[in-house]
Amino acid sequence: MRKNLPFTVTAPHVLPEMRYCKLENGKYADTAEFFLDKKADCTKGKGRLEKLFPFRQKDGFPFLVEKWENAPDKEGYFLEITTEKIVLKFASARGYLHACRTLKQLRNGSFIPCGIIEDYPALPLRGFHVNLASCRQFEEDDVRALLEKAGKFKLNTFLLEYNERFPFSSHPAISSCNAFTKEDVRSFEKICAENAIEIIPLVQCLGHNAHINRLEEYGKYFEPDFPDGRKSAQLCPLNEESYTLFTTLAEEIMQAHPNGKYLHIGGDEARSMGACPKCQEYVQKYGEGKLYVEYINKCAAFVRNCGRIPIIWDDMLSRHPDLMEKMDKDIVIMVWDYWTTSDPSPITVFRPAGRGIVTDKSMAEGNFAKLEQPEKLIAETFARVEEFETLAESNEGSKIFSTYLGKDFPQKCTAFPFVDLYKDKGFTVIGAPTTLGNTVDDIYGLPNFMRFRKNIFAYAQKCKKYSLSGMITTSWYDFPPEILEMGLICTANDLWTK
Ligand SMILES: [Zn+2]
Repeated sequence: MRKNLPFTVTAPHVLPEMRYCKLENGKYADTAEFFLDKKADCTKGKGRLEKLFPFRQKDGFPFLVEKWENAPDKEGYFLEITTEKIVLKFASARGYLHACRTLKQLRNGSFIPCGIIEDYPALPLRGFHVNLASCRQFEEDDVRALLEKAGKFKLNTFLLEYNERFPFSSHPAISSCNAFTKEDVRSFEKICAENAIEIIPLVQCLGHNAHINRLEEYGKYFEPDFPDGRKSAQLCPLNEESYTLFTTLAEEIMQAHPNGKYLHIGGDEARSMGACPKCQEYVQKYGEGKLYVEYINKCAAFVRNCGRIPIIWDDMLSRHPDLMEKMDKDIVIMVWDYWTTSDPSPITVFRPAGRGIVTDKSMAEGNFAKLEQPEKLIAETFARVEEFETLAESNEGSKIFSTYLGKDFPQKCTAFPFVDLYKDKGFTVIGAPTTLGNTVDDIYGLPNFMRFRKNIFAYAQKCKKYSLSGMITTSWYDFPPEILEMGLICTANDLWTK
């Protein structure tokens, strides 16, 4: 038999980093013909776990698999690797898969370093997002590859936004010429099943529907065009037919992804609120916020009737914090903030009263000299200079928010303060940093990766500290898909480790 000696005595890096791992220097289990190949022997009807990720032993090296009773987490796993045997304990099918993934990363040829590993994730929902709209460069192979990478690094959720690239049967005209086929969509589901990943489809219920309003015959569902001639991307929230269009598309996408618990209905950046005469009248009487919240509650009720949990982006709600009481509390709020990179932060995203990324006046004095990178570049590129103190007291909505600004205020703010506000209002919150967003600060032709790395890390710290249910890192803009891989690995690592 051909034997290879380990070429290194140190264990390789396993990502995400293991919670508890004590390896014995220089001691290896020589597993000989011990395979960790998911293509091997999975066809013989051996049982669900083996089908998910089978092991094969030709030489009878003892490999003992058992249930991990009282595991600290349902995705947890335990490994005891000695020169005589490997013991694997798992809390669930996912835990078993994670253990296999760790062994696969640890092995060196047929050798696996001896030691004890006890491992489980820090957050229950760990995810990554892609927008597959036509201008992106994703082909079906790219999607499959990214889904497999997510599994490899122990993520368990994928937020998938098709827009016009879904093969709609109910409204085939909406599907673009480069839409995925039904077979492609089934193959995405299959890869997710093999990797224990849950897909959350995203179907926009209000704004960001330019891909539908590109077709003249769908114009009747939309708010009127902007005065400068640009087409509105927003469905009319008071038009029953627009609502039916949304529910029809959403139903079709949910049927194609039948295993998920959630449906994300977008709801962000609705820029044509109150534009048509009917909406205008309503907004004049009751305000934009009420129109928004009532429409979102209606869409969320539809999602619940389909047996799913609705998710929305938070920016419209945070423009009207006084209306939070009226929003159904079982709507999960996904809070996106792509500019905060430290805690406390010299920059904050402050949406009430129509503001955006702001920094305190004291920071801007001396041309942001007190800031380090990437905060300095972010402040110079994106931030409006305001007096934080004045801002926090600027209107009724902001006063609600001012409780959460932290002890370093007004020079700095607690990172992601809206998360605390939503939690206190009784919402379930999912964090949303980015690995590719607002790329106007590119460096040497590539995204400013340090900014995104720190944004993902800072947000993960927040999610763990405040025990949020999860975090999903978003990705936007038109770089080749491979550019997303490092952000995916960062996300997987930060959400797993303590
Ligand atoms: Zn309208």
